[in-house]
Amino acid sequence: TLEFKVAVLGAAGVGKSSLCLQFSRNRFPENYEPTVEDYYRKQMAVDGDAIMFYLIDTAGQDASVGNLNSLIQQAIGFIIVYDITNRQTLQDAKQMRDRILHVKDTSHIPLVLVGNKSDVENKREVTAETAKKLAEEWNCQSLEVSAKTRENLETAFIECARKVKEEINNR
Ligand code: GDP
Ligand code: MG
Repeated sequence: TLEFKVAVLGAAGVGKSSLCLQFSRNRFPENYEPTVEDYYRKQMAVDGDAIMFYLIDTAGQDASVGNLNSLIQQAIGFIIVYDITNRQTLQDAKQMRDRILHVKDTSHIPLVLVGNKSDVENKREVTAETAKKLAEEWNCQSLEVSAKTRENLETAFIECARKVKEEINNR
């Protein structure tokens, strides 16, 4: 089994904890539970390899700078989450990527850009096209998901695992 840590990052309220909970425990919390820091495990097969994800659910900008940096340092893969119903969270996603590049001191990181809350189409503020352009600049994939309905949920983690495997194979 290939084991690795994936940090789930993004602004407060975008659904990081919900994504982690749905992916690892098939549970969607309806009530808002601000996170300090949490860990989840999930095993799944990706392209024929057994993968054990160790998810680091972060508190976004609320965390102390040093603490968040140390979580970033520990992770090999990254899922940056924004909320498709909140334009500002895509700006926050950009800052988060800058921080990862700074902490990791590299220009290339295994990363997936994830737009959560795709079930709330009537409140959309970010088009899929806008996110796709940003992801192209970043040389990564963008995906719209819903922690609530599970739409594209596993696909996002599978994509992240593929990026991590490429990174490990290229070392
Ligand atoms: P975090 O601060 O990024 O960890 O965000 P949470 O996971 O705590 O979610 C913040 C709020 O958004 C909660 O009220 C969730 O129920 C809600 N939420 C999270 N994901 C979704 C989703 O995919 N669809 C909808 N409709 N609400 C969501
Ligand atoms: Mg949280």
